Amino acid sequence: MSRSKFSQRFCGYCNKTTRMELMGEMTTTPDKAWCRCTRCHHMTLINAREALQAESGIALDAAKATTYTPELTFKIGEAIFHSEWNDVGKVLSKVRTSSGSQAIIVSFEKEGQKTLIENLR
Ligand SMILES: [Zn+2]
Repeated sequence: MSRSKFSQRFCGYCNKTTRMELMGEMTTTPDKAWCRCTRCHHMTLINAREALQAESGIALDAAKATTYTPELTFKIGEAIFHSEWNDVGKVLSKVRTSSGSQAIIVSFEKEGQKTLIENLR
């Protein structure tokens, strides 16, 4: 499967979300990468790790994702499917809620970033 070099991101010049082409990582600062707006052609320096996450988000496949239930525990980077929202997402990080339960921060394709309970007893 070929990874798309294009992603939807916010362009400060267009002042709206546009299609951006990933131009590659900077050798001096590996965490940063240049993105070029396909609309105004201005270059924007972006966080490469976020870009990779966004790219892998495009490739998420509901059939391969784990269906979310609160009783399960998930790994960072794991693809999950939320049947109620009919949406796939990727686990970005794990947190502990104020009530002491475990939760995961998930970036969903349609719903955006959500916090979900995991390891519910
Ligand atoms: Zn632009």
